[in-house]
Amino acid sequence: MSEIIVGIDLGTTNSAVAVVQDGQPRILPKGDQRIIPSVVGWSKESGWLVGRPALNQYALNPDQTIRSIKRKMGSNERVAIGNREFTPQEISAFILRELKTIAEKNLGQPVNKAVITVPAYFTNAQRQATKEAGEIAGLEVVRIINEPTAAALAYGLDHEEDQLALVYDLGGGTFDVSLVEMTGGVVEVRASHGDTHLGGDDFDHILAEHASKLFYKKHQISLKDNRVALARLNRAAEAAKVHLSDFPETHLREEYLAEQNGVPRHLDETVSRLEFEEMTEELLDKTIASMERVFKDAELNAEELDRVLLVGGATRMPAVWTLVANYTGLEPDVEINPDEVVALGAAVQAAIIAGQPVESILVDVTPYSLGIEAATVMGGQLIPDIYSVLIHRNTTIPVTKEEVFQTLHPNQKAVHIKVYQGEQPVASANTLLGDFLIEGLKPAAPGEHPSVNVRFDFDVNGMLRVSAVDHIGGSQKSLSVQATQARLTPHEIAEARERLPELELAPAAEYLSANGNQPVIDEETQALLTRAQALLAGGALTEAQSAELAELVQDIFDATTQDELDELAEELLDMLFDLE
Ligand code: AMP
Repeated sequence: MSEIIVGIDLGTTNSAVAVVQDGQPRILPKGDQRIIPSVVGWSKESGWLVGRPALNQYALNPDQTIRSIKRKMGSNERVAIGNREFTPQEISAFILRELKTIAEKNLGQPVNKAVITVPAYFTNAQRQATKEAGEIAGLEVVRIINEPTAAALAYGLDHEEDQLALVYDLGGGTFDVSLVEMTGGVVEVRASHGDTHLGGDDFDHILAEHASKLFYKKHQISLKDNRVALARLNRAAEAAKVHLSDFPETHLREEYLAEQNGVPRHLDETVSRLEFEEMTEELLDKTIASMERVFKDAELNAEELDRVLLVGGATRMPAVWTLVANYTGLEPDVEINPDEVVALGAAVQAAIIAGQPVESILVDVTPYSLGIEAATVMGGQLIPDIYSVLIHRNTTIPVTKEEVFQTLHPNQKAVHIKVYQGEQPVASANTLLGDFLIEGLKPAAPGEHPSVNVRFDFDVNGMLRVSAVDHIGGSQKSLSVQATQARLTPHEIAEARERLPELELAPAAEYLSANGNQPVIDEETQALLTRAQALLAGGALTEAQSAELAELVQDIFDATTQDELDELAEELLDMLFDLE
């Protein structure tokens, strides 16, 4: 039997082990768990606990449970479990030993060697401590590699032409961003920056704090000093946060959270993604400063990037995708599970060291973005035909996404749902997959806009099921279409490419023809209007910028002479230059 070297992601919040088999890197699971929490505990009944059982006892037994030991690696601090003290290396060794056992059970042979990943900013002392933890666990650590390097290897970037990639890593407790350069098959971290106290946990805390305030308002019970209730609240908040990554709304429920005069009090609140994103906006804004910093340190700028990789479970939040896409101007790569990518990359490095052949990781993804047509009113101007994407291109399938859309008018009783696939910001420039009408809509209250929940379910066979439900009235309608088979022949693609400018500009042209004898908008101005439309729909502008841009677009539509129109078009060109 050949000697096995496994790849290990020893994370602050979660850890995973992977190996290359038959040329393919794969995660080695424990039952149905592909990653395990990096938690170690002791209980009188069960003895030592590692992973999920240790995390489960945390709420009840926080004094006998250790989380986030990675933060202490390389220091001389000791941690206590009960009345015994341990070095950080010893606690990490518990986790590594568990991963070694998981690997051995999966592979049916002993595992004695590993590649382990560490953050790019880890000092020599921290790397050394990681190696020692491996040795305590009975693993020879054949190489320590940087986490962003592992991500680049998992995406096979070492096989490609020279590339510059930004790796944006938001885990449970830490954030870091790195610029990774590949030249001649050599992967190097050019710059790295981050915040060792920013991660998914902070999003949970903000949501838990919000829930705790609502609970106080309703029952006048403060949970501040109730450690067990707070731990349960945090767990519920995390589950709600994860749900909000795919759905526009979630319930924060926790039964028997507290007691009042012998009466049990439950938590039951609804939170929308929009509310959640507003509450946590500041946290994400902090990551922008780090991105700016790495570009400055490496003396590079965002235009030079070839790829953007998202790493860490918390990058599944849609707001992260949008933030990073807007900042870099590139669509981030998300094909590989963000919480598995580092372990898979470590396995690739391990295979390279062992001289094993490695192929690229195969994942099933959506080949196109999928969404619906939407319209919005901005600065009093109706902007029609906006492509609102529910599932971005290259998302791993199967996938389910849901969004809420409001009707344009309070008295609107029906909505026409048009489903498209493609990448153009103008909906009608994409491929129409199907459409249907949902009728009999009801508003929540008189004068309010009715709203419709639109849900996309995309399965492994490429079937897309789109359903729309009236938020209040409950009536629903759905449609199933084969999405991936609608691929075009090369001839059709060539034809469509020629037709593209005309298609993209259709809405503006239609608007004008419906509005009588106005000066003619030439192709160039139409292209500017399309760019303006995309910017307005993209959500990256401040309110003031949006208002200014919408006003200028409106002025162009309202221009009464050709000279006036040309002058305004010139102004739009300048404004787009600044905003884009
Ligand atoms: P990691 O350290 O990479 O395993 O990331 C763990 C963090 O990712 C935790 O804060 C999780 O709550 C968070 N996370 C995992 N899945 C999701 C999801 N679907 N949406 C939002 N956060 C998630």
